Amino acid sequence: MRLLPWLLLVWSLAWAFPRVGVHEGFTRLVFDLPSPEVAHTLTQENGLLTLVLVGVKAAPLDQVVNSPEVVSVQTLPEEGRVRVHVRLKAPVEVSVRRFSDPERLVVDLALKKETPPAEKPAPSPSQTRAPKPPRPVVLLDPGHGGVDPGMVGYVVEKEAVLDVALRLKRLLEREGVEVRLTRDKDVHLSPDKREDLSRRAAMADSSQVNLFISIHVNATPTHTGRGVEAFYFGRTQDARVLAQVIRENGGGELGQRLTQEARSVAERILTDIVAQANQRYSQRLAETLGRHLAQATGSPYRGAFPGDLFVLRYAKVPAVLVEIGFGDHPVEGRQLADPAYREKVAQGLLAGILTFLAHGAYAR
Ligand SMILES: [Zn+2]
Repeated sequence: MRLLPWLLLVWSLAWAFPRVGVHEGFTRLVFDLPSPEVAHTLTQENGLLTLVLVGVKAAPLDQVVNSPEVVSVQTLPEEGRVRVHVRLKAPVEVSVRRFSDPERLVVDLALKKETPPAEKPAPSPSQTRAPKPPRPVVLLDPGHGGVDPGMVGYVVEKEAVLDVALRLKRLLEREGVEVRLTRDKDVHLSPDKREDLSRRAAMADSSQVNLFISIHVNATPTHTGRGVEAFYFGRTQDARVLAQVIRENGGGELGQRLTQEARSVAERILTDIVAQANQRYSQRLAETLGRHLAQATGSPYRGAFPGDLFVLRYAKVPAVLVEIGFGDHPVEGRQLADPAYREKVAQGLLAGILTFLAHGAYAR
């Protein structure tokens, strides 16, 4: 098994301000910011590091970290700014960096090396070993299943996406990524589409999951569409995408109703900076998966689009819906029925996920 660089790039609470990651040798705080104009101040005294960010709103939060450097991180909203109290276990060296696209402030805290031995308490056996970073957890959602076949063309969507998800699971596990599935056989989670999608979404709504990827097969009324595309949660901006979104939300009147419901959530995101930050990571994940999938299969990359997808509407981690190809296209549909081609699809998704975890903005 290859030892991947992301083993050092882990994070704990994905939906928090700040996000806190415990790494070997340092604790990282990532503050997702609404704009490059946010100013910050930082002071350290008596075991307390205080950060003040002006022009930011955040919910009050108390995170127990218990890393070698940090006891806890407390987020305290104030008028027009946010104060963050970091309780330290010992004096730390602080490194502060700004990144853009998406905008964020990254604060790394490492223990000061020159602490005289006299002041240093004898390390207990549990402290002598570096903390083992948790493995990333990916939730794969093979769309449809059971009473709901999804699209039917040269392939049946529910069968093709389950096969791809199982192949991808094996590949990810070989790389040390933990994988969960919303379904591992031909079943629905509920015969009611709304309830079925809600249960899939609920599985992603867990601090144990780092990424949510829903896998689907595409179709068009003219059977002429070809290529791969990916969606992240947001307001649909064009008619073609809207038609796909309604289809994946159950189709027909039901699909329109669930799309409308998801749209009201998408509108609320516009005023929530933490949700907006997650949306930017989801967009990045959608683009990364789409490009790698196109590269691995030779299928054209159609793009990454915002969509009012019911299954993604409350995701608190980067979440996407990937269309791995058109099952009703005379060439691509037949390819999707071929096990060797499905393995290429799984390889493409694997490459995209590993790229996002290792180099994606999310982990930095
Ligand atoms: Zn589907």
